[in-house]
This record gives sequence, structure tokens and C-alpha cells, in this order.
Amino acid sequence: MHESRLSIDQNSIVTVHKLCFHGELILPDRSLPDAYLVCSEGRIEAVVDEAPPGVAIIEGTYVSPGYIDLHVHGGAGADYMDGSAEAVRVANRAHARHGTTTIFPTTTTGTTHELERMLLACREVRDNWQTSDGAQIAGVHYYGPYFAEDKVGCHSVDGRRDPDPAEYLQFLDMGVIRIATCAAELDGAEAFYRAAADRGCLLTCGHSNATWTEMARAYAAGMRHVDHFWCAMSSVASLRTRYGTPMQASMEQFVLAQLEMSTEVISDGCHLSPELLEFAFQMKGVERLCLVTDANRALDLPAGRYRFGPEETGSWFESDGKVGFVAGQGLASSVKGMDHMVRHMAANTTASLPQVIRMASLTPAERAGIAAETGSLEAGKRADVLLLNRDLSVEQVYLRGQRLHW
Ligand SMILES: [Zn+2]
Ligand SMILES: [Zn+2]
Repeated sequence: MHESRLSIDQNSIVTVHKLCFHGELILPDRSLPDAYLVCSEGRIEAVVDEAPPGVAIIEGTYVSPGYIDLHVHGGAGADYMDGSAEAVRVANRAHARHGTTTIFPTTTTGTTHELERMLLACREVRDNWQTSDGAQIAGVHYYGPYFAEDKVGCHSVDGRRDPDPAEYLQFLDMGVIRIATCAAELDGAEAFYRAAADRGCLLTCGHSNATWTEMARAYAAGMRHVDHFWCAMSSVASLRTRYGTPMQASMEQFVLAQLEMSTEVISDGCHLSPELLEFAFQMKGVERLCLVTDANRALDLPAGRYRFGPEETGSWFESDGKVGFVAGQGLASSVKGMDHMVRHMAANTTASLPQVIRMASLTPAERAGIAAETGSLEAGKRADVLLLNRDLSVEQVYLRGQRLHW
């Protein structure tokens, strides 16, 4: 018995799918020039300074971890709220071409039925993922509909409401939501945060006109993140309008004062000026600031008029090819991928390249609780790898060690 098993082992052909990348490796805290990243069976095996024997070498300028996007609505004509698996795949493929290998499709405001269709479509694509589908879904960002009425921004105001347990408990139990947003001042916000925290979600406050006191209550219920800093959130001035004097501290002060609070910036060059990007980086640091795209369906499409959210009922906005906007109202999310956000942040702040890339990979992975699996070039993690050119454009994308072709 023992002997025959040995002979079978000796005769069997072991085919191990090995990959080796060579270039300047971008690690979370530094870059390693002239180094090799060895991957095996879809996982990172080692970072070494000499080429391993017998493995073909894939040359790149920069070898970077794949990007992770916590806040993104769609791309290439599709919005995740369109509610079909095909729309989800269209958007995921588009973002993968821009370097995003792990994605959190993000809801807008909408009806219970529209939200349910979105969650089902994302779960189906996540559960049946293959390389050609592009960015891998780590979970849904349940973002709308629990927004403050005076901070809905470009979302359809008809689709916003206060949190209702009859709606959200059923959604949270579908096993696909990993990030959960609610405006902290709404009736029922604390119960929503606690229910989402029980299921392991990153809790975030967004589209909110909350005071410091309301933020402190949300913090006690587990809230630790604020969506797109400076966009659709309270300020000292907005609270003065809400409450008069004495003036009150806002979400901005709360995020800057609390070490544990993280946030995100849309570094597309249209939403925030360079000094605000630098300020956010200086104040929160690389471990608490994430880059997000907040991209909508107009990513990779020509200038024109598009719907934000569901294709039948979403609100209209325009894209000029640089940013989304509603004439006379303001900006309506971005039309750029994560590669653009990384380039803009690198060119316009003092953050080093490893710091910028950390904010687009390991930091969002840590905040969303997936850093053991992906987010950096470290042994044991998924081989989600980008080859970047000197100008930080995306040359090649690898998902679990498989090259994405486009
Ligand atoms: Zn928003
Ligand atoms: Zn958004």
C-alpha cells in the first residue's frame, strides 16, 4: 500500500503555475529597485533580489499591488444600479483596465427593489468570477439610500429615506455587503450601524450634515470612516445654517481629531485642489486616507448626458470627459479610474510613490478587513499585480496570477 502510493507520487507530473515579475517593486513603506516578485498558483510566494532559476521573467518598470476601490458606481456605460450581472461585469472590466483588481460596487439612492437587484447581481458576479470578468468583488458598499435630505448631492432625492430595519436587515443578511454608509443624524442611524457592525462591515458616514455630537454617537456605535472628504458633508458653516450660533464642530473636525477615523479623497483634479489633497494626506496619514474613484458610468465614454444610478430612474448629469456635473448645482462624481487618481496624487502632493500606492491598495484593504488576502506585494497574498510604466499608466494587469487581456 505504502509502496504503491510512493511510486504514483514519483510518476505524477506536478505542474505548478509560476510567475516572476522583475522591476521596481512597490512595497507598502518603500520601493525595491531591481527586485523580483515570485508568484505560484495565484499567490505571492516571495520577494527576492535574484531571478529564480527556470522561470520566465516578466519585465516591468514598476511592479505594484493591484488597486482597491472602496467607492465606485460604474464605468464604460454601466452603473452597478442597472441591476444586471452583465452591467456589473462591464464596469468591473473597465476598472480593471485602470488598475483596480478588487472592487466594492457602490449603491446609489433607489427603491428597495432596485437595491435588491443590485445586491443579487453583484453576489452572482462575485460567486462566479473568472479572470475575464476583471476586478474582483470583495463586497458591496451599501451607500445610498440612507442620506440626509439636505446632502443628497447628485443622487435622486426621491430614492433617499431614513434607515428601516425591515429593509436593511434582509439586505445585510444576503452576505454581500462589506461597507455600510448612513448619515449619522438620521433617525435609526445607530441601530443601522450596530446591525452592520455585527456583520463585520466597515461603517461610514456620508451625505450627511452631522454635528460633532451626532458623530460621537455614531462612533460609539462603530462608525470609523467618512465618505469622500469635503464632498456632501457637514462643515462649520453648514451647521451654522442648521443651528445658528454658537457655531458647532462638524464631520471635518471629528475626522481630523479622531485618530481611528479614516476617510477618502477623490483625487481626480476636479473635486479637490492640490492643497486639500496635501492637507488630507498630512493630517490623516497613509494609514487613514484612501484614494477612491467614485466613478460613474461615464468613465471611458465621451462627453455627454448620462444617468447616475439605475438606467431607468437615475438622475441626469453631464460629463465633459473630465468630471461629472449637474449644471447650476455642482459636481456629480468622477469619470476617471484609479490609475488617474494615483497619478494626480503623486504629481500634486508630497506623498512618495509607495505612499500614494498604499493609499490605493493596502490602506483600503485594511479598512475593509481584506488585507490578509490582498492589498500589497507580500508572501501569501493573492497575486493581484500591476505593471506600471514610468508615467504610472497601467501596462499589464494580473488577477490571482492570471493576466487580464483587453
Ligand atoms: Zn457621494
Ligand atoms: Zn459616490
